[in-house]
Amino acid sequence: MAREAGMEVERYDALDSSSEDGSSLDEPSWISWFCLLRHHELFCEVDPAYIQDRFNLNGLKEEIGPLYGEAMAMILGTAPTERQLADPSQRIHKVLNTARVLYGLIHARYILTAQGLQDMKAKYHAREFGQCPRTFCHKHPLLPVGLGDQYSPVSDNPVQRFCQLCEEVYEAETGNTYIDGAFFGTTFPHLFTQSFPDTAPAKNSFKYVPRLFGFKLHASASARAPSPVEWPKRQKNDPDSEFDSPG
Ligand SMILES: [Zn+2]
Repeated sequence: MAREAGMEVERYDALDSSSEDGSSLDEPSWISWFCLLRHHELFCEVDPAYIQDRFNLNGLKEEIGPLYGEAMAMILGTAPTERQLADPSQRIHKVLNTARVLYGLIHARYILTAQGLQDMKAKYHAREFGQCPRTFCHKHPLLPVGLGDQYSPVSDNPVQRFCQLCEEVYEAETGNTYIDGAFFGTTFPHLFTQSFPDTAPAKNSFKYVPRLFGFKLHASASARAPSPVEWPKRQKNDPDSEFDSPG
């Protein structure tokens, strides 16, 4: 009986290498877990070696505040367990949002490095950032962009998507709108295009031409003309036609 119980313990140890807090040695990293969350497909996995190099983190401690150390340890650690996520009293719930912002700000810097650009290129070719909705761009892959480089806690700078062909900016998918534009920055798509010029072939100069019954509209008659052309109005006392003219 005692021997059987011992075997049970042995088998349990072999199956589960959990530590006290429930994390396991072969669990995915926090970074992999974060990037696989729903709507997080815009993020690439930042190389932990990049995060461990203090030179790359200049100024972030001041921007993040007192939870910086804990957030950094979380980012470089393993994925949270289901047990931790399900229990709101767990410490991770106090740090998770700070870790998210810290990771986003590191991410914005990382994707401007040679390695980060390569990581994003793979996602670009897999069309993970979506494709241009403009008809004449023929589903050209989009790139994430921020309209500002400063993180906004009130989410007024959501990530947008840039098309290299029409050079227009489009709103992100509905689920991504809570992701801050500062996590991608204002420089990324333009540095990407300069680094990989083959991703943006000849500018798409095809412009849609509005027509009325097959004829091009004259510039002055365009819908954007400041004063619309009006039909001449009949004077108040004008007769309806020359036939009922008095006299
Ligand atoms: Zn386009």
